[in-house]
Amino acid sequence: MSQTQPETTTLLILGASGDLTKRLLLPGLGSLLAVETQRRVHVVGADRADLAPEEWAETVRAALTSTGAPADVVEEIVSGTEYVRADLLVPEELDALLTRAGEHAVLYFALPPAVSVRVCELLEQRGVSGQTRLALEKPFGTDLPSASAFNEQLLRVVDENRIHRIDHFLGLSTVLNLLGVRFANRLLQPVWSSEHIEKVVISYDEDLALEGRAGYYDKAGALVDMIQSHLLQVLAFFAMEAPASLEEDEVRSLKAQVLRATTVWGGDPVTASRRARYTRGNLGERVVPDYVAEEGVDPALDTETLAEIVVGIDNSRWRGTPFVLRSGKALGATAKRIEVVFRAPTHVPAGLHGQDVPDRLVLELKPAEMVLSLSINAEGDPFDLEQKELRATLGESRMLPYGEVLGRILDADPLLSIRGDVAEDCWRIVEPVLTAWREDRVPMQEYAAGSAGPAGWGVVPERLPERG
Ligand code: NDP
Repeated sequence: MSQTQPETTTLLILGASGDLTKRLLLPGLGSLLAVETQRRVHVVGADRADLAPEEWAETVRAALTSTGAPADVVEEIVSGTEYVRADLLVPEELDALLTRAGEHAVLYFALPPAVSVRVCELLEQRGVSGQTRLALEKPFGTDLPSASAFNEQLLRVVDENRIHRIDHFLGLSTVLNLLGVRFANRLLQPVWSSEHIEKVVISYDEDLALEGRAGYYDKAGALVDMIQSHLLQVLAFFAMEAPASLEEDEVRSLKAQVLRATTVWGGDPVTASRRARYTRGNLGERVVPDYVAEEGVDPALDTETLAEIVVGIDNSRWRGTPFVLRSGKALGATAKRIEVVFRAPTHVPAGLHGQDVPDRLVLELKPAEMVLSLSINAEGDPFDLEQKELRATLGESRMLPYGEVLGRILDADPLLSIRGDVAEDCWRIVEPVLTAWREDRVPMQEYAAGSAGPAGWGVVPERLPERG
């Protein structure tokens, strides 16, 4: 293993010949290095695949170059990179790898989740240096008990601040822009509460279908794949109290606080959730089969490809405002956004006429854009009202979300990593819905691929009295 400079961080990728490494992690690193060219990273790949060193070097070169890392930076990394063939579940092979990686490595688990858990068991038995950091991919557990058991196990390996549970949505520019939008101007900060906001809709509708990912997706479904993880993180950034600073402890504690107050709307998972699955249809020119006829799909799993849940936040800022979280695949149009619907003004002067449309703020996740629609005087007759739009481009991200998140990890800063209690709470929030769906208390609807999804979604049930 090459001699590393003191400021060099070793990124040890476990599962280096897999899809995530090639498609997201290394390109993310490339985009980080395109911005932070001074950063020194020693990349070590480990996997049980028999890769020739040149093949690995070429994978690293191609991925880093594809996202704009300058040629000299790429070549420096490529000249120092190594590939180690190892079965990470064989204690001697794992031990030899960790000894070679040194005391300060970031261990990035790009492994199947069940393998990651077993490797962590071996780390617990072996022990690691106090400087080691662990980066763990989603899904983190499969339910609340498994997430909580995994947390306990990880804490026996390293301290919480050295555990980085990954959610690349925390690297999305619009999510980070929420900090400025909410806290850096006099206009929006005072109206960010249930007193002024009637409803918030956080959506992530994709126009892609399964795209060969049955192995993972068919066991997860839209609720676990998107809402349980990513969209609840967006909600936390949207709804948390104002941090005094951007220190990780401050921000992560406030996110945890707001999620602790979050529950299924009205305490009833049946009225507060909807699920559906796509059937044969067209996505552009392409004919998409029924979801259950897609390769690798097991119809018995009864997996949804579109999910919607309504949650509420029981604190003084948000009580009474429903948050609708929705995500799905194979839809006719993408909709990746946060939509804030404002309450009507307390009084409009008699004599001003116009349509009864609420004011809205839409924060588009991709591309990053903000649109504020307000009722003001119409053109022509000034005593008529109409909606006018104020638009702002929030700017292209300076790097890929994976780059943003990885940069913090390499700096040993967990600001953009999920804390253990939050990972568990996100399971606790969706658990009643998952149970209701397993018990078939919420019907599975259908929608044709390429359509807008079933009609009538997005409606918030009247809040029922809380139970028990
Ligand atoms: P892959 O199956 O493509 O890659 C995992 C790699 O780990 C494979 O090369 C696999 O080898 C290797 N591996 C498995 N067991 C061992 C072992 N005992 N010793 C050494 N190597 C081993 O998975 P992905 O890259 O898709 O996913 C990795 C992680 O990232 C998962 O947790 C996933 O949920 C998460 N993730 C993935 C995303 C994606 O788009 N791919 C998106 C977000 C998260 P082999 O092929 O021989 O089994």
